[in-house]
Amino acid sequence: MEKLENGGKEYIVAANWKMNMSAKAIKSFLEEMNQVEIPKHLRTIIFPPYPYLNIFQKMLRYSRITYGAQDIAKEEKGAYTGEVSADMLIDMGCSYTLTGHSERRSYYAETPEIVAEKTRAAIMHSLTPVICIGETLEQRQSGRYKEILKAQLDAVEASVRESMGVCMIAYEPVWAIGTGVIPKISEIRDTHKFIHEVLISYGGTYRKTVPILYGGSVSEKNVREIASVKYVNGFLIGGASLNAERFKTIIKLLSVD
Ligand code: PEP
Repeated sequence: MEKLENGGKEYIVAANWKMNMSAKAIKSFLEEMNQVEIPKHLRTIIFPPYPYLNIFQKMLRYSRITYGAQDIAKEEKGAYTGEVSADMLIDMGCSYTLTGHSERRSYYAETPEIVAEKTRAAIMHSLTPVICIGETLEQRQSGRYKEILKAQLDAVEASVRESMGVCMIAYEPVWAIGTGVIPKISEIRDTHKFIHEVLISYGGTYRKTVPILYGGSVSEKNVREIASVKYVNGFLIGGASLNAERFKTIIKLLSVD
């Protein structure tokens, strides 16, 4: 296989399983994944539903595959029925958590401020937050999308300041999630560059190293082309990550020889 244009850089391949899978399906998925040799330059992260984190803890003890939660409580502990705290995620062996996924922002009314508080809670407990940002189709078409993305980032930065440097960003255009539609490569390039510039504008050279993942209808058909885009440091993958064969193919396609 020919080298990726920007071969040599580290890629992050993250799987967001949302409210899918079963204990049985996960066991066979992880058994299969445990046979795969993950190249050094690939960081693989899976975000399963909460109740299955214990399976990950048991089965991935000696694996290079890491895992995290799809969401986190902004509170530390107490009377918050249904919530899961950072300490609990640490107990389950999580290293990461998503924050601000567009489904949480739209279905559960998570405001930029709530996302910022959740991100802060993760950082306080040494969990790496993968902060999801993205614009709707209407916002993209109106040309306001950069303003929207900046506002989503600004809210987090105002809360975590210097710690922005330990986060990851997942740019997920809402209109590309689960639709099979992806932006043009030039749009991905421009938007990732813009996000990079916003991070730089916060000051501090370490912000240059915040990985910016692309998410939204990533599949084995488009992953290599998108991987070659400057400032794309990896992927957050929904649908295509639910099937071990497809996920393994994506990992293979990002394996630089
Ligand atoms: C997601 O929701 O994080 C996602 C990227 O989904 P999909 O790959 O299915 O578009």
